[in-house]
Amino acid sequence: MSDIKNNNAKNIQSVAIVGGGSAGWMTASMLSKQLGSSIQITLIESEQIGTIGVGEATIPPIQNFNRILGIDETEFLSSCNGSIKLAIEFENWTKLNHKYMHPFGSFAVDFDYMSFPYFWLKARAEGYKRDLQEFSIAWHLASNNKFQKPSTDPQSLASKFDYAYHFDAGKYAQFLRQYSEKNGVVRKEGKIVDVVTSDIDSSISSVRLESGELVNADFFVDCSGQQALLLGKTLNVEFESWHEHLLNDRAVAVQTAHMSQLKPYTRSIAHHAGWQWRIPLQTRMGNGNVYASEFMQQDEAEKLLLDTVEGPTLTEPNHIKFKTGKRAKFWHKNCVAIGLSAGFLEPLESTSLHLIQSGIMRLVRLFPDLSMSPLLQQEYNNSTAKEYEAIKDFIILHYKATERDDSEYWRYCKNMDIPDSLKSRIELYKEHGHLSVHDKELFKQDNWMAVLTGQHVYPESVGPILAAKNELDLTRTLDSIYNNMKGLATTATGHEMYLMKNAPFKG
Ligand SMILES: Cc1cc2nc3c(=O)[nH]c(=O)nc-3n(C[C@H](O)[C@H](O)[C@H](O)COP(=O)(O)OP(=O)(O)OC[C@H]3O[C@@H](n4cnc5c(N)ncnc54)[C@H](O)[C@@H]3O)c2cc1C
Repeated sequence: MSDIKNNNAKNIQSVAIVGGGSAGWMTASMLSKQLGSSIQITLIESEQIGTIGVGEATIPPIQNFNRILGIDETEFLSSCNGSIKLAIEFENWTKLNHKYMHPFGSFAVDFDYMSFPYFWLKARAEGYKRDLQEFSIAWHLASNNKFQKPSTDPQSLASKFDYAYHFDAGKYAQFLRQYSEKNGVVRKEGKIVDVVTSDIDSSISSVRLESGELVNADFFVDCSGQQALLLGKTLNVEFESWHEHLLNDRAVAVQTAHMSQLKPYTRSIAHHAGWQWRIPLQTRMGNGNVYASEFMQQDEAEKLLLDTVEGPTLTEPNHIKFKTGKRAKFWHKNCVAIGLSAGFLEPLESTSLHLIQSGIMRLVRLFPDLSMSPLLQQEYNNSTAKEYEAIKDFIILHYKATERDDSEYWRYCKNMDIPDSLKSRIELYKEHGHLSVHDKELFKQDNWMAVLTGQHVYPESVGPILAAKNELDLTRTLDSIYNNMKGLATTATGHEMYLMKNAPFKG
């Protein structure tokens, strides 16, 4: 007999999710899937306030989120104007007129106990000329506007890559709304004008809508966006700013018609005070200019965007202010913040929807009962903070590791002090050729190697063991891997054709 206790009297009976952006509906869909009808879930959103209206590029773990929900990929892509994302291309980041890709998945194959990039570094030190990215299948496919799914045979070279999606975030929220409502989630339309807290312990008891209706719940998920209505404004959990290292605090976004082939990757094009995104959806392009208000005015940012987009505009420019940083706690009393209410790390590596996903899955794993165990809260807060910090370092790397000094903005980035954790990681890599990345980090060794080598950061030596490994004819081995990968990409389907055949947008 099991000793595991389940004291039903202590179970949470009701959850209220405040906000119906991507965070709100992703939370509603997963909680309704995992908790079933055992708990009443209510989601409150306000059309009058609306959502942030951006957030269209993702990273591979999103596949897993949809899979857990039981969502069919084809249906998802065709409902959400979705396309495939194999990589991010960084233009003008290392220096002007230079570009490299951060492709998804791993580089080639590991040799013995060492991963491929180390052998590539050795070959490079001996004069080998191909870039590391040329040993990624995702790079081969992306550069040729092709796509095929990774092989399910782990021995096959064709299994060594991964992919994510670009999609219309509004349509994704609608898609998940239908899913959640089928699972019993109750949606309430209305603006929250007051949050009522308990006289006993100051936890949240209910929210009051403009109509006067009170929505009570045992547990609240704050998905109210940047204003953090519950965790920030009501429970006074502070926001820690990361502005010192991540300067960008504004964006302007606009949609345009397609003028060229649908690329299976996001483009990130650096300019003198930030960067621009190009996110290709099936029927339109999402464009945005992310910039630092200290170095660029709003009018200039809009003009730069409109002057450089490729097709006719389909929407008016949408100006957005944002802050990079995170809450001092993500879970306090009977409230967890998920989405922009929890923190934001600027959109460079498309990590926000992922942080929503991982916050939700962590909440599912640590779901409390009415006692709101401080141990569960502590675990949630510590592991979420670690996750944010590691991603922060990865993003700062893109700004710090630049050769650009053509503007005040880039000179600041190049010369700024960086967190000790990032400093020591770069020093170890540069001095000893070893990259230290922990298992639980979102970005793995190959992700770090993609950006480090793409931005011309190399170690001074490859280390004595690797230097002594001379049994392989590296040039021949690497060339043979490259040619196999190139062959695989040649036979793959064009990205546009793949979508047209498998998941055309339903409109
Ligand atoms: C410029 C920019 C680009 C981005 N690009 C990407 C990207 O490419 N990939 C990625 O993963 N992420 C991206 N993000 C982040 C992404 O947009 C967000 O993480 C995501 O949209 C989740 O937002 P949210 O649901 O937390 O907030 P929101 O979309 O702001 O939703 C907040 C919700 O709360 C409701 N609400 C607020 N106050 C009240 C109230 N008083 N009463 C009732 N309801 C209320 C609103 O109506 C809304 O429904 C980007 C962000 C920015 C700023």
